[in-house]
Amino acid sequence: MMCITQHLDRKTKIMIALAQNTSITADTSMKILVIEDETKTVNYLRQGLTEQGYQVDTASNGLDGLHLATEGEYDAIILDIMLPGLDGISILKSIRPSVSTPVLMLTAKDALNSRLEGFRAGADDYLIKPFSFLELLARLQVITRRTRTKEESHIYIGDLHIDLLSRRAFRGKRRLDLTAKEFALLEVLAKRRGQIVSKTVITELVWDICFDTNTNVVEATVKRLRSKLETDDEPKLLHTIRGMGYILELRK
Ligand code: CA
Repeated sequence: MMCITQHLDRKTKIMIALAQNTSITADTSMKILVIEDETKTVNYLRQGLTEQGYQVDTASNGLDGLHLATEGEYDAIILDIMLPGLDGISILKSIRPSVSTPVLMLTAKDALNSRLEGFRAGADDYLIKPFSFLELLARLQVITRRTRTKEESHIYIGDLHIDLLSRRAFRGKRRLDLTAKEFALLEVLAKRRGQIVSKTVITELVWDICFDTNTNVVEATVKRLRSKLETDDEPKLLHTIRGMGYILELRK
């Protein structure tokens, strides 16, 4: 129904090839909001995206869409322009800039003006109906990757601030004097904040090898990192979970 791959330009074909190559697969935790009133398209998107491992919420009119887009936490929004109640452009204008979720617009073939207006209102990309599902997937992966990279250049946990670009870490105003390995360990834990990270995972990611985890190199590095990360009067952030690993989080 919606396959028009033969009409696509070279760049799009490359993007689709990348997506098909599954070097980029859906992050199973990704949540997508589809705001679209055509039942056929909604069902097609819901089925396709669910099969790819995405979680999908849908809204079939503008007001429900606006409500979900404002209240819900989504990794991306697929937004139709022509909607009953409130059109897609108005939704975009209402949610930007407070909601920075990437938005992929769906537009009609001859709707150049609404595409331009959509970009001005803060859309990240668009697709012309009818569209190929693989192209949609490829574009979705590009816009979500872009925001994820942006997000991950700084991590904040309590008063801990990690700047992943300049490779520096601070607690409040105090700069942590970390070695490369200590910083790498902190980064691995911080990117998985709130989750237990096992010694095996740490050795693979920090030392890039799989050595015998009985060795105490992980413990020794954790100990050094902890001594620099936590002074006596600061809340503890790096916790040991006996027999399982380590977790970085602020406990109240
Ligand atoms: Ca529509």
